[in-house]
Amino acid sequence: MQTPNTSNSEILDLSNEVPVPMLRRTTGTDTKTNILFPRPTDKDVKKCRIMIVDDEESVTLAVKKYLHRAGFREFYLVTDATRAIYEIRQKRPDLVLLDVRMPINGLAILEKMREDDHLQHLPVITLTCDTDAKTKIKALNLGADDFLTKPVDVSELVARVRNTLAGKVTRDQLARYSSELESDALRDELTEIANRRAFHYELNRRIIEWNRQRTPLSLLLIDLDFFKQVNDRYGHPVGDRVLRAIAHQIDNCVREMDLVARFGGEEFAVILPSTRPDESRLTAERIRDSIASKTWQVDDQAIRVTVSIGVATAMNGDDAATLIRRTDTALYSSKQQGRNRTCYHDGAQCKLVTQNDAINDTQTDSNYFVEVDASTKNASIYIVDDEPSTLLMVKKLLNDAGYTRVTTEEKSVRAFKTILKETPDLVLLDIRMPEVNGLEILQSVRHNEKTKHVPIVFLTSSTETEIKVKALELGCTDFLQKPVNASELIARVHNSLLAKAHLDQMEDYSNQLEHEVRLRTAELFASRREAIQCLARAAEIRDDETGQHVFRVGRYAAIIAQELGFSNERIVWLEHAAQLHDVGKIGIPDEILRKPSRLSADEFEIMQDHCRVGSRIIRDMGDEDSLVIRNHANMGASIFDDCNSPIMRMAAVVAETHHEKWDGSGYPNGLKGEDIPIEGRITAVADVFDALSTKRHYKDAMPLDECFDIIESSTNTHFDPNVVAAFLKRKIEILDIFYDYNETAQPEQNTQPKTQSPSSESPST
Ligand code: GH3
Ligand code: MG
Ligand code: MG
Repeated sequence: MQTPNTSNSEILDLSNEVPVPMLRRTTGTDTKTNILFPRPTDKDVKKCRIMIVDDEESVTLAVKKYLHRAGFREFYLVTDATRAIYEIRQKRPDLVLLDVRMPINGLAILEKMREDDHLQHLPVITLTCDTDAKTKIKALNLGADDFLTKPVDVSELVARVRNTLAGKVTRDQLARYSSELESDALRDELTEIANRRAFHYELNRRIIEWNRQRTPLSLLLIDLDFFKQVNDRYGHPVGDRVLRAIAHQIDNCVREMDLVARFGGEEFAVILPSTRPDESRLTAERIRDSIASKTWQVDDQAIRVTVSIGVATAMNGDDAATLIRRTDTALYSSKQQGRNRTCYHDGAQCKLVTQNDAINDTQTDSNYFVEVDASTKNASIYIVDDEPSTLLMVKKLLNDAGYTRVTTEEKSVRAFKTILKETPDLVLLDIRMPEVNGLEILQSVRHNEKTKHVPIVFLTSSTETEIKVKALELGCTDFLQKPVNASELIARVHNSLLAKAHLDQMEDYSNQLEHEVRLRTAELFASRREAIQCLARAAEIRDDETGQHVFRVGRYAAIIAQELGFSNERIVWLEHAAQLHDVGKIGIPDEILRKPSRLSADEFEIMQDHCRVGSRIIRDMGDEDSLVIRNHANMGASIFDDCNSPIMRMAAVVAETHHEKWDGSGYPNGLKGEDIPIEGRITAVADVFDALSTKRHYKDAMPLDECFDIIESSTNTHFDPNVVAAFLKRKIEILDIFYDYNETAQPEQNTQPKTQSPSSESPST
């Protein structure tokens, strides 16, 4: 026993009971005390379920009636002999009353039942008309529990059924009890881990397996140091608690396939199947280290305990006793060399094992390493574990396997920062760590955009499924059981890296596709914009040779719409739609359109018509296209939708309503106020301002101040006051457009017509 020193060690409170992991009872202990089994009560028997199989329905009903009168309550009636086996398997009754003479012979059914592992003990009473003893003997030989002769005597029926079922109930109780006894017989009462008998049973089994398969088999014997003093100082009950806690601790340090047993008073044994000498030494050191670094707290007492361990691996010619003897010699040697030690028996002599020896050991066995695929060899691997020995060992195994970029971290608080900075290709992460545990790190990694795809493999000595489920829910990639098995480590690392590489490839590919789609969409937008502008200019060019009028109106409208709070998308639509406001002029004869003098009443009538023509051109466009498309059998409805695009619908509205006036005096429909669609009201202001401020073949340009004045003074008569207010508020930008897109404006301004407006809808901007 060591002097209590609580610094640098984990403190475990044993004031309450410690949970124990192995060989739990399958049922409660209450039935266990009932060693003499009395005959089952009438109540138990009557709870049983009875199946009556007879091809004559009247028989099944009659038998049921009599048994019901006798107190039985659960029945299954089967009249179709072909379904008998199926029904028995499905319903699992406690007793079958089986008619012999049926389309399928009842004895054949019985024979089949006895061949079935699950039905071979199910009680059967045969019903037969034969008074002949032969059939009855045959039935008994096939495994019938009893027989009845038809016509059935009611009291005989009830008595035989009751008897057979009483036997069945007793057998079931015995079976339950013996399975409990079996588990008790193999379990140590104090620690609830396997006892010495279970240990011998398992070791013999493993030795036989080892002789057959030659997969290495190792054994540890662990003895508590100076444990007598713990009892002397703190009392036996406290000693018991420490023993239980240590059993639990050892169990936590090994894999599920290993067996931890109580070998003697304060001595434990661990059977390690498929474990080579180097791995078993490492496991021993892990156990020794984990016990030495803990402080067990019982009420006010802080107790520290150490263990000495002996290790040996099965060798040619070994039986269980020889292996135990060598391991025990190694344990004795550990005691001799000062306790809190591990010694290994190599067949000739005992050697002291140090932590570094254990780690370096792995070098010696070169068969051990899986060839690493060159594709993952350059991957960066980051290991986080609070146990330096694990870090050293795992790093070494990875290096030996050909991974060169391996870094380690002992302080879990630093882990996430490093993962974020370095984004390693793989993280091997311990779950149980002080300060920040593995699950918390995993959570941060998965919630960060930069690190969310980094594969994380958990190193865990815990066999608790709850933690594993939690880890999976949080998105861990894989698990590696501690103590780490080298081949498994390399295989899992390799797989996780390959999966990550594949994911990276997929991500690159989808980025590339996305880029491609973006380019194509931009091209599509550009070509649509050009088509709209061509159409607008085709109409406009006849009274404005430069064709710049439509650009300006589009830009003005967009600026007003922006000020009025349109969404970005609708601003873009309106800019294009407004460019098409005069498309109807295509349908107006040149002599009217280009007439330098005022129009006659008839001519004005024709001129007004451009609004309707314009709206028709645009609307019809969609329909014509749709006709073509409908003729193409395999084109989808989506393309048809496209032809009626929102821009084109809006353009139809603008073309038809941009000459309406707020007071109702406009054309072609004499709409008033907010009955005029907002797009028409906006385009009206943009169009009139442009007509006033630029030179036409029938008039000169008006000074800009006057233009603004006219717009302002037409509020409430011609124009919507809100639209005018928005227009005037953005005067500076309006003037910018005016100069940018006007060849006849001030010579110092840019005179090159621009083909692309500043609010181009290209998605790349
Ligand atoms: P060492 O093994 O280091 O030589 O010293 P030790 O004191 O542990 O060994 P020793 O064989 O002298 O004593 C073993 C002690 O283990 C004696 C007994 O008090 C204690 N022990 C054995 N079984 C139990 C048990 O079931 N409960 C408790 N509390 N103590 C036990
Ligand atoms: Mg001891
Ligand atoms: Mg002892």
